[in-house]
Amino acid sequence: MSFHYSYNVRCLDYQWCNSLAIKVIIDQEECIMCGTCEDLCPEVFVLGEDDIAEIVEEYQTEDTAHGEIPEEQEECAQSAADACPVAIIHLT
Ligand code: SF4
Repeated sequence: MSFHYSYNVRCLDYQWCNSLAIKVIIDQEECIMCGTCEDLCPEVFVLGEDDIAEIVEEYQTEDTAHGEIPEEQEECAQSAADACPVAIIHLT
């Protein structure tokens, strides 16, 4: 038997559910402002006022370079990470 848990399922154990979130980090100092991440995954990435890539506000944690996304956004974010020409998007 296999189980698939959606991040959106109401959690009874916050710590456990929070551990399902996927961490995303953008190394913003190296961003060349190409917009590829936003094109491929606007649900997670957006170019800021200075055209540097940011995590969308909904998923930001401590700042615009750090975020946590639900499982359903992983494929999208991973495609952006794979396509980033300077490989500065990291998912863990
Ligand atoms: S794809 Fe990479 S280099 Fe291009 S805007 Fe996004 S983070 Fe910056």
